[in-house]
Amino acid sequence: MKDIVVIGAGQAGASLCAKLRQIGYGEKLSLFGEEVFPPYQRPPLSKKYLLGEIDVERLYIRPKKFYSEQGIDLNLNSPISKIDIRKKVIYSKGNSTSFDQLIFTTGSTPRKLPNSLSQNLKNIFYVRSILDVNYMASHLVEGKKVLIIGGGYIGLEAASVCRKLGVNVKIIEMDKRILNRVSSSETANYFRELHQNNGVEILERVTLDALIGETHVEKAILSDGTQMNIDLVIAGIGVLPNDNLASESGLDIENGIKTNSLGQTSNESIWAAGDCSSFPWRGKRIRLESVQNAIDQSEIVAENILGEKKSYIPSPWFWSDQYDVKLQIAGLNTGYDQIAVRKGDRDNSVSHWYYKSGKLISVDAMNDPRSYMIGKRIIESGNTVSPIDIENPEYDLKKLIKK
Ligand SMILES: Cc1cc2nc3c(=O)[nH]c(=O)nc-3n(C[C@H](O)[C@H](O)[C@H](O)COP(=O)(O)OP(=O)(O)OC[C@H]3O[C@@H](n4cnc5c(N)ncnc54)[C@H](O)[C@@H]3O)c2cc1C
Repeated sequence: MKDIVVIGAGQAGASLCAKLRQIGYGEKLSLFGEEVFPPYQRPPLSKKYLLGEIDVERLYIRPKKFYSEQGIDLNLNSPISKIDIRKKVIYSKGNSTSFDQLIFTTGSTPRKLPNSLSQNLKNIFYVRSILDVNYMASHLVEGKKVLIIGGGYIGLEAASVCRKLGVNVKIIEMDKRILNRVSSSETANYFRELHQNNGVEILERVTLDALIGETHVEKAILSDGTQMNIDLVIAGIGVLPNDNLASESGLDIENGIKTNSLGQTSNESIWAAGDCSSFPWRGKRIRLESVQNAIDQSEIVAENILGEKKSYIPSPWFWSDQYDVKLQIAGLNTGYDQIAVRKGDRDNSVSHWYYKSGKLISVDAMNDPRSYMIGKRIIESGNTVSPIDIENPEYDLKKLIKK
């Protein structure tokens, strides 16, 4: 095996390269990224970095020198524009690089507001990259008015930062409630109340009808007839997998770059991991957008490239920080049919336990790390715990660990 090329210098790309070196791959390894920064963590972008609490270097997954020390040829500011699969060559800025094995870790891109709404007006922001956040942060000034479009995690985290900075916030969500795609109404109610208590106005089942302004957004007109003066818009309306290059190269696409359980695409020399890829799981095909998935999946792919035959079985977990609340999620709640609610030890701590056909599949824990940790262990072990026990405050969760 020689010449492994990785496209996408983000979380999955960096993890994959590090793992390849760790498990003994000693031949040529090239990592191409279109951004100017070495691979970095995105979660703090909508949290501490946006608040100005940490420097840019703290975002880097590894110090820059790691790549040269490990003999990883890191090419930044080098978007791959074309792949010739037959000749096994990729092209960046007119230069070509050949590969034996190629991996896509191209991540995802924020869904944009349609041109009919954005009309090229300035002060419309998305939260994906360091540059996005640098650009936006200078506009988050006390007393400004922001309209946040989308009540998902990105929108809610941005709202929390804005309030800490003294920015006035209104969130609109087109669905019947915030967090509808990812959480139960119990969890949504918790976060709605949290935001309202912090002065955020949340409008559900409301869409944006128009943005008005000369060069910058000045006013928004909403579907409920509200007209409001605004200084900026933050759109958090989901992401799309970066699969265009793979699609143009003739690889199969299905909600992202389609892989088998090993991470291999429809071409046996080409692999994919992270936000850009979909993979089979429990009889269906899923695509996950989380740090844990990017790391775990890319590490499995690294092993499989070197000859293992390991199926990727995700053990999803996710977190979100809003005000003084840390939400931790274990498992996937897809298809749940029952919820058990357990009060935590502190005032605002509670956990929501999701069941499908009587079996525990996921836990949302708000300021309740113990419930999160125990729930995660139960889910990963394939065991369960009865909802009646969970709702019983006398029931000692620690018993479950001992079992
Ligand atoms: C603001 C924000 C907050 C988040 N918060 C959390 C959280 O709290 N918890 C959590 O688990 N997850 C969170 N996520 C999601 C998490 O960051 C992603 O799931 C993770 O970064 C995915 O890793 P990846 O390597 O697949 O993609 P990325 O990290 O996005 O890396 C992909 C890289 O590929 C590059 N690329 C794309 N196309 C090309 C090309 N043609 N040529 C060269 N380079 C290319 C991109 O520019 C990018 O740098 C958050 C994401 C964002 C944006």
